[in-house]
Amino acid sequence: MASLSKYLMYPFSLEARQTARRLARDIHALVELLDEPSNHYVVGAAEERVYEALTRHDVTTTVTGNELDFLVYPTARLIVEAIGHPRLREYQAEAESKAVNRHLNREREDFVTALARTSFDWAVESLGDITKRVRLPLLMRGFELKMRVEHFLEVAPSFHRDEWKLVNRLVDHGWVLVRLSELCRLMSGKFSQLILSSRTVVPALPARLAEAVQRIESELRGKIRTTEPIKITGQVMSAFPPCIAQIYADTTSGKNPSHEARFTLASFLLKIGMSEEEILGVFRPTRDFVASTAEYQVRHIASKAGGEGYTPPGCKKLQSNGFCPVYLGDAWDPLCEYVLHPLAFYQTRAWEVSTGVTDHSWYAKKKRKKQSF
Ligand code: SF4
Repeated sequence: MASLSKYLMYPFSLEARQTARRLARDIHALVELLDEPSNHYVVGAAEERVYEALTRHDVTTTVTGNELDFLVYPTARLIVEAIGHPRLREYQAEAESKAVNRHLNREREDFVTALARTSFDWAVESLGDITKRVRLPLLMRGFELKMRVEHFLEVAPSFHRDEWKLVNRLVDHGWVLVRLSELCRLMSGKFSQLILSSRTVVPALPARLAEAVQRIESELRGKIRTTEPIKITGQVMSAFPPCIAQIYADTTSGKNPSHEARFTLASFLLKIGMSEEEILGVFRPTRDFVASTAEYQVRHIASKAGGEGYTPPGCKKLQSNGFCPVYLGDAWDPLCEYVLHPLAFYQTRAWEVSTGVTDHSWYAKKKRKKQSF
């Protein structure tokens, strides 16, 4: 039986939630309790936790031995909800789920599966120890666990890699085979979803909490200002390579681009510094637009690798997917012969546009051809 303090690392767990609720039954009781000077350490630790999420994309668990440590996470959520900025909520979801994933990967299988069951009500079963698994068909031996398909699908579709697609999984009578590390990833993904989807009406805050909120808010403002997103203007669009220009035109004219085309466009726009909000505006005209799904997908693409985001596919991949109009003979741009990636195209063309260069003959003198059509 795990000690209660271990659940401090898993704020979504039943144990952590029940303990926090016993200490403060609702948000009003929490705010009142945090107003006590003897409990101010909880506010300090929560503020630090949000600050870490914002600046380091990670969080540290506070363990002082005081039961009130269980209120640090709910207070960190309270601070974020009091500010109410979607970007801050995303930072928190990313950092909290990353920390949980790291902790889970150090746990024993029985602890992780029990946590999945009690926290999310997921049906997860062991395929037995190694001596039992060697008797399974070869394909199944690499998996330690199976989980109900409906529980797998609560999170897996939000992951981009092919291995998370149900068609690529071994499914047996409604059970999906998963590795222990995959279950950890699904659980941390579920935790992230819970943070992103929860909204709280925050009551008036006492002075110590209000100060913490103000400090985090100004830190957030500074961070957002230093990475001010660019807007889609005629100048930006004129630097798009033909492949992106085509997908962009299809999307904004209300067609239904394929999943790969959407991924290419969203990851490209994010990489050139466009805000998630503006990208959602680009996808809004598509016929099957569902705001919550689109928001989730764009956020997922943006938050990959600690916020660096996914890199859009290169020219070869786009050509094999039929997304390169130059390769198909439908468009022509001399710069395409000198690049292997749409971002490389954009970088050069954006410089040309901003400096007024319209004569492209310098490519042949200064650049080496990388592909020909
Ligand atoms: S060559 Fe590359 S950059 Fe140019 S249109 Fe094709 S995929 Fe895009």
